[in-house]
Amino acid sequence: MNPIISACHLHVAAVLKLGDSAVDATAGNGNDTLFLARLVGKQGVVHSFDIQQQAIDNTQALLHAHSLESQVRLHKQSHTEMSKYLMPGTVGAVLFNLGYLPRGDKTLVTKPETTVIALNASISLLRPGGLVAIVTYSGHSGGEVEEQKVAEFCGALSSRDFSVLKLELINKPNSPPRLWLIYKAVK
Ligand code: SAM
Repeated sequence: MNPIISACHLHVAAVLKLGDSAVDATAGNGNDTLFLARLVGKQGVVHSFDIQQQAIDNTQALLHAHSLESQVRLHKQSHTEMSKYLMPGTVGAVLFNLGYLPRGDKTLVTKPETTVIALNASISLLRPGGLVAIVTYSGHSGGEVEEQKVAEFCGALSSRDFSVLKLELINKPNSPPRLWLIYKAVK
């Protein structure tokens, strides 16, 4: 697995507990949804969003193959709608794996404007100690602008309410992915 995705999963696994609520903001092929579903268990719930039917179908099939459909709600909707399904202050982790569907239509990518709307929604949903994890890809068209918007969003968060970490691969060529981790303070 890509080391940035491994690092993302390590941080999420340290925060999410059995019975928690979680969000996969970009379901894609379902790998992150499957990972979250295992962590929250049968008592928990994962709300998973994607705008492409192909992504919803792929995620559904992966969950079915692992008998983990019962704790996942799939939404063929933009992640900007996540606040409709969850109460503020109740979510353990929200994961964004931005960009396009691997092996899918590369023109259907996440967009900076909607990503920032969804990031704002996600930090309102977090419980104290909760985490928003974002993987950005600057190598595709529009990816650099989106990563810059994520950087600006993270940099503007109050340091009293949030701690933000940025992880990057420093010895890889060709615009490697970056990981942004927003931890909500416990007061
Ligand atoms: N997490 C996925 C996995 O484990 O396979 C990979 C996600 S893929 C890199 C990015 C996904 O974001 C694509 O499937 C794309 O359709 C989806 N996407 C694009 N815009 C979106 C939006 N506004 N709301 C939700 N999903 C979106």
